Amino acid sequence: MSLLTKPAMTRKSHDHHTDATLQTAARLGREFLSGLDQRPVGPPVAVEALRQALGGALPDAGEDPGAVLEALARGADPGIVASAGPRYFGFVTGGALPAALGADWLTSAWDQNAWTYVASPAASVVEEVAGGWLVDLLGLPASTSVGFTTGATMASFSALAAARHAVLARAGHDVEEQGLSGAPEIALFAGEAAHATIYAALQMLGLGRARVRRIAADDAGRMRPEALRQALAEVSGPAIVCAQAGEVNTGSFDPLEEIAELCSERGAWLHVDGAFGLWAAASPELRHLTRGADRADSWTVDGHKWLNVPYDSGYVFVRDGAALRAALAVGAAYYPSAASERENFHLVPESSRRARGFPTWAALRSLGRHGVAELVERCCALASRMADALRDAEGVELLNEVVLNQVLVRFHPPSGDPDAFTREVIRRIQADGICWLGGTTWQGRAAARISISSAATTGEDVDRSAEAILGCVGGG
Ligand SMILES: *Cc1c(COP(=O)(O)O)cnc(C)c1O
Repeated sequence: MSLLTKPAMTRKSHDHHTDATLQTAARLGREFLSGLDQRPVGPPVAVEALRQALGGALPDAGEDPGAVLEALARGADPGIVASAGPRYFGFVTGGALPAALGADWLTSAWDQNAWTYVASPAASVVEEVAGGWLVDLLGLPASTSVGFTTGATMASFSALAAARHAVLARAGHDVEEQGLSGAPEIALFAGEAAHATIYAALQMLGLGRARVRRIAADDAGRMRPEALRQALAEVSGPAIVCAQAGEVNTGSFDPLEEIAELCSERGAWLHVDGAFGLWAAASPELRHLTRGADRADSWTVDGHKWLNVPYDSGYVFVRDGAALRAALAVGAAYYPSAASERENFHLVPESSRRARGFPTWAALRSLGRHGVAELVERCCALASRMADALRDAEGVELLNEVVLNQVLVRFHPPSGDPDAFTREVIRRIQADGICWLGGTTWQGRAAARISISSAATTGEDVDRSAEAILGCVGGG
């Protein structure tokens, strides 16, 4: 029998399979989430056992979809990190708000291609609406254009593509048509503590990591405006400055007001990487940290960190939307053009993609303006609580002034090398499983980073974690 004459799965049987499979997915998801609080956070994983459970040759025959999900959940479970739970303090990791998670599931069920208005009017309108809410919450200029990216890395890539377009256009060079061949060099500036993904974006844009002039920073990682002033005075021609709102170790903010002033005097494009820190602007209490941010030309923010949207959620904001569209727009004979409605594919690097605006819309609606402010403020208060619990303890050195949600500590043994001891304590904490935090090197010294970014974290979680950390310092 040929494929075309073989009876296909009937509509009824297809619907039944889909229904049963979604029930299974919902049950497995709920079982996981209900046990999340009790799970060891980031236990050691036997990678070979994982490979065995999930590996082997691809079977010739297909399997029942529900059974496939059961096998996936069973096989993956030992390798699933409880990063959606309340005591995961590694990197800068948010959990998932119920509304955002639910909308994320619906996004898959709807399976919209968000690239263009005609392929999904709802995805276009939702990104337009949620983008407007974000601009408002973050205190950015009202006419700012917003693209929904996979994360902050691609947001910075998109913003810096717009910057590259604009500064070279001013110099009479069309970089989209001509590439960088024959272009004047762009002078690039970033603070010493700029995030690695700024360099990744510049590398992908052909601007070169090594071309960046690294501007001296203070002991909290804040760019020194005096040093920037001097560096800007040394070059002429097109210039892009990358500043930061929220340093990943200390949570500190570059002095954006002064930096913006220098950039406007010089005619330099100012980009602000505020992947998590720009959320401070949504809180009346913390907004002062971001003063001057609204004067920038472009901004990077993540949804999957502090807004507690599931992964695949970042935002690029560009004041001059025409620059963003010029840098990213794609043209093809059958592509929609000159549409009056929002065309998502002009605002991000991709064409076909997930309708990632839905979870953000749902997160913002479920929190409201006050809820976003409270989420940010609560995490910061919990970070202070963690710092207070650790500050005066034997063997602990607090390395930062806690201005946001990041706590940076170092551990000292009764005798011996604090670098080796700090790494050993981090290992003990990770193995202990009550909470999870990661290591870093801060100004040449080993340190542990604690980031409190989840809506799920409570005061009790912080107290329990502080106790576990101190237990590991005192001998493990
Ligand atoms: C996390 C982070 C990034 C990278 O974000 P992704 O969403 O992982 O791409 C960039 N900048 C800062 C300051 C960050 O904290």
